[in-house]
Amino acid sequence: MSAPSPTQFRPTFPVERIREDFPILHQEVRGKPLVYLDNGATVQKPNAVIDATARYYRHDNANVHRGVHALSERATAAYNAARSTAQRFINADDHREIVFVRGTTEAINLVAQTWGKANVGPGDEIILTELEHHANIVPWQLLCEQTGAKLRVAPIDDRGDVILEVYAELFSERTRLVAVSHVSNALGTINPIRRMIETAHAHGVPVLVDGAQAAPHMRIDVQELDCDFYAFSGHKVYGPTGIGVLYGKAALLDAMPPYQGGGDMVRRVSFEGTDFAPIPYKFEAGTHNIAGAIGLGVALDYVNGIGLESIAAHEHRLLSYATEALADMNGLRIIGTAREKAGLLSFVIEGAHAHDIGTIMDVQGVAIRAGHHCAMPAMQRFGVAATARASFAAYNTLEEVDALVTGITKVREVFRL
Ligand code: PMP
Repeated sequence: MSAPSPTQFRPTFPVERIREDFPILHQEVRGKPLVYLDNGATVQKPNAVIDATARYYRHDNANVHRGVHALSERATAAYNAARSTAQRFINADDHREIVFVRGTTEAINLVAQTWGKANVGPGDEIILTELEHHANIVPWQLLCEQTGAKLRVAPIDDRGDVILEVYAELFSERTRLVAVSHVSNALGTINPIRRMIETAHAHGVPVLVDGAQAAPHMRIDVQELDCDFYAFSGHKVYGPTGIGVLYGKAALLDAMPPYQGGGDMVRRVSFEGTDFAPIPYKFEAGTHNIAGAIGLGVALDYVNGIGLESIAAHEHRLLSYATEALADMNGLRIIGTAREKAGLLSFVIEGAHAHDIGTIMDVQGVAIRAGHHCAMPAMQRFGVAATARASFAAYNTLEEVDALVTGITKVREVFRL
């Protein structure tokens, strides 16, 4: 079936207006208009976020919590407001359940090194899935090395869906935690995490969800999911780099030992011992990324302003359009065809290495990603070392998908495929 032309869609989504919010998009790269399709790696920032960060440094910069002067009060108020925005964004019950971290990677390491060290021992088991990002594998491997625990891995099928029957059979009385991606960055699979959490809870096992690829694309409700931990990164949700969120149920966070020691995470310190501050401050040692947190709050408001449901529908339209356009190409194989997919498309072309695909696309101004996407086990499952990946955001257009398709045609010409 041939791909429908862009005019067959009548999108009501205000993509052109949204594009105006992103100054970086309006440039030429290698003499061609930039087509930015590397959103799975990081998403561009709207003026609102850039301006809020600059405004903070121009007018309000001071350290939070410790100051008695006006600037410190303003910085503290803005930092606290960002926490409340993040709380509302994922519908957490309490702002104390929001810990600011550097990103998803730090959030997972924090849980592994605090909750993990307190609750996981020799012979215990942690369940992951085959499609995890290295950020949701390596911290658990480190914990296993430190404690003598073991990883159990739920396999995925040929489409890239977790085989739920096998997942359910992995539980034993030694299972201490499930750590699972909400959305796979390599395959696009949206995991049925509500169901996976129910299964884990039926065994009394808590669940950490890696939401790095979900937060920018779908509404997250941690209370409805009933997950125990949820992690996401600011830079993938239109916010700054170096800031992210770890959500944890208050009772769990309360019972966890601190992560790093230092200023701001203490109530009282003497050489005999230290009383720790209450959550979330117990986990926020030292001076934090205050500008980043403020920028993140603005980014989350920006996303809410467009509406996550509308963003998801728009990205889905782009995904379907791209999938149809690529489906008939000889020698092109889409890696990851899960029943439910977020807006990203991984593919390989017989006879062309993924990195060469990426380079030829770049010459045409099209930014995609090529590599193993920090998900080597998922690549191995599909028998490939690397894929090319186009990933969509709210500001991408059907015409940009056309540019992707034209770029791929060029790759095939170069390689005489
Ligand atoms: N998990 C997934 C699914 C991801 O896609 C990423 C980023 N590629 C991460 C974790 C790590 O996120 P960060 O680098 O922002 O810590």
